[in-house]
Amino acid sequence: MNNSAPNSPNVSAFDTHHPPSNEIIDKCVHCGFCLPVCPTYLLWGQEMDSPRGRIYLMKLAADGAVEMNSNWVSHFDTCLGCMACMPACPSGVDYGKLIEATRAQIERKTERSKGEKLHRRFMFDTFTRPDRLRRMRLPLLVYQKSGFQAVVRGLGLLKLLPKQLQVMEALLPRLAPHETVAEITRAVGTKRRRVGLLLGCVQREFFSQVNAATARVLAAEGCEVIAPQAQSCCGALLVHAGEETAALELAKKTIDAFESANVDTIVTNAAGCGSNVKEYGHLLRDDPDYAERARQFAAKCKDISEVLAEFEPRAARHPLKLRVAFHDSCHLQHAQGVRSQPRGLLSSIPGLKLAEIAEAPICCGSAGIFNLVQPDAANALGDRKASLIAPLKADVVATGNPGCILQLQSALSRNGQKLPVVHTIQLVDASIRGQSMESLRR
Ligand code: SF4
Ligand code: SF4
Repeated sequence: MNNSAPNSPNVSAFDTHHPPSNEIIDKCVHCGFCLPVCPTYLLWGQEMDSPRGRIYLMKLAADGAVEMNSNWVSHFDTCLGCMACMPACPSGVDYGKLIEATRAQIERKTERSKGEKLHRRFMFDTFTRPDRLRRMRLPLLVYQKSGFQAVVRGLGLLKLLPKQLQVMEALLPRLAPHETVAEITRAVGTKRRRVGLLLGCVQREFFSQVNAATARVLAAEGCEVIAPQAQSCCGALLVHAGEETAALELAKKTIDAFESANVDTIVTNAAGCGSNVKEYGHLLRDDPDYAERARQFAAKCKDISEVLAEFEPRAARHPLKLRVAFHDSCHLQHAQGVRSQPRGLLSSIPGLKLAEIAEAPICCGSAGIFNLVQPDAANALGDRKASLIAPLKADVVATGNPGCILQLQSALSRNGQKLPVVHTIQLVDASIRGQSMESLRR
């Protein structure tokens, strides 16, 4: 990353397009209550890698006291955007808005190295494009099913690859046969609600079984499910990485795709996407054509666990004799404030025992593209989570975000724990269909 030009004293380092809000920055009273829940402060113990330190760095830049140089930027690149600092803050500092605005400024006003640019471009051009992910499925399936992956890993050949590719390979999920969600899934019995389903990108192509389970459970609970096939990526990865212009375009496309579906609720089952679409009103606030439509769209968005918590269960649950360690995804627990609903869903399954993982507010290290761009810190956080899961003697780990599934699978396997990680809704689906845990391993 090259340095930006030095600032004159008192001239903000930020440009005038939505700089981090001084009003929000000034709400921080430096009490430090957010420090113990911040994963990077936990790892390194450095003030400038804590929420309080990062807010102070924003203040210095806003006051023109520092440049947005590579050192300054590095403290924001290491922020996971996990939002654990927000519920911990007694002053109500909206750190989410601050980091989003800061990252957009960084991407506009500073220059990344050629290598970083290429790496980021590859990730954004791949992970936001279901069509490209789909084309990767067959070669990856062959790589996994032929036994080539086991040989490559066993012989340590991955060490010959660039680090970025090693990191991606380590996070590859075990691909299952692709399941398609139809444009319309009819409600079982009397219709209670007409809902839209956001299919996601990685979820749609690499965890299609989660979308299929979501549609089945919703239908079993009396929802007609509309899954517009033309829907694009919601832009979550781009928003969280400061790629504002591209994110706005995808947000508009997503709104367009659902508008004619005429649904009461838009269901999300990927926490990162859910937290993003709930903020569309803020993201598109300047757009005269979309501002109001974005507000209306966002007001309809709910996580699958929130939607199901609103209904008295209709479909019978069959027993699942499992001990389940539940992992709170950061974008579900902190960004969306959803904690009790997934636990309630799991507890409603006869025979299922819930086990709580210690340090629940602390991120597993997934955090959008964090585990791809900051692999050492992400691995340290993943290992920490795996060590907290081990003593629970669970049969399975459940969570509500594909990124967490990838990160936890990788961390558990690195730590020698042969524990499956599934989406919460897959357990509900298995219970309704009377299937065993083995069906989820296939
Ligand atoms: S978002 Fe997470 S990593 Fe970033 S400052 Fe807040 S708690 Fe720390
Ligand atoms: S808890 Fe809130 S007010 Fe206190 S230091 Fe952290 S961000 Fe600032």
